[in-house]
Amino acid sequence: VAEKELDEETLNPLLEELRLKLLKNNVSLEAAEAIEEELRETLTGREVKRGKAEEVVEEALKEVLEELLDDSFDLARALDEASEPPVMFLMGFNGSGKTTTAGKLGSMFEDMGMETVLGAGDTFRAASIEQLEEHGENIGSKVISHEYESDPAAVAYDAVEHADNEDKIAIIDTAGRSHSDENLMGELEKMVRVNEPDISFLVVDALAGNDVLEQAEAYEGMFDAVIVTKMDVDENGGAIISISERSGKPVAYLGTGQDYSDIEEFDKEQFIDQILS
Ligand code: GDP
Repeated sequence: VAEKELDEETLNPLLEELRLKLLKNNVSLEAAEAIEEELRETLTGREVKRGKAEEVVEEALKEVLEELLDDSFDLARALDEASEPPVMFLMGFNGSGKTTTAGKLGSMFEDMGMETVLGAGDTFRAASIEQLEEHGENIGSKVISHEYESDPAAVAYDAVEHADNEDKIAIIDTAGRSHSDENLMGELEKMVRVNEPDISFLVVDALAGNDVLEQAEAYEGMFDAVIVTKMDVDENGGAIISISERSGKPVAYLGTGQDYSDIEEFDKEQFIDQILS
């Protein structure tokens, strides 16, 4: 079969179609364009058999996504490398699912035979403390809380101390915040300074679309891995690509519903197959 060099004329419509497909899957414009550019660079001038251009583009997309996405988060290793007691922080905007995820992680660890204590470090949002206490009761984890408006660094400190005394993992909820909340951001920085988390998760919600970029930026340099919630509501999960492209951090878990068991390890091969199908 004759070979042909991929040129603009052949590539453009294919890349255009692909960008639209990514955008339809709620991938941010920034990430979609970055992927398109990368593909254009690697594919222009490549020799392909006639009629095979589409296949080659798809294969190249798969490679770009494999490079871009990171599912290397390894809980056992993270715990192994953690200090005693292991301290986990959940960060993210309001409503992204931090409190719910604290309950899910706690439940998952308890199922694995590891005891947890939950720290009600969101002393800002009405009802967040009660919500966490309810999770604690349901999953059999102690919850350390102070009053609303109290210093969240002190709550986390007490939770870590409890974890230390009782050989538990401390899971600390924090208040949702954004760039504009300078005070809340300062408070979070203090929480981090005082309690030195071993693993900080940024919790983003799959429905946030382009807003995940703002969230990654607000917490830049503060988180080790990402948890994407509400994947049951937006199964396309474009947010996973957007946040990976912007942050370069691994996606550790996906939230897939409202039950405690609705948390899954992120599997990039499975996700890529789903995006490409
Ligand atoms: P926070 O403000 O970050 O602590 O967010 P919450 O944990 O209070 O969650 C906000 C809302 O999202 C609640 O109604 C949760 O039940 C819901 N939620 C959290 N995670 C998931 C998920 O994976 N799937 C679905 N469908 N809902 C979720």
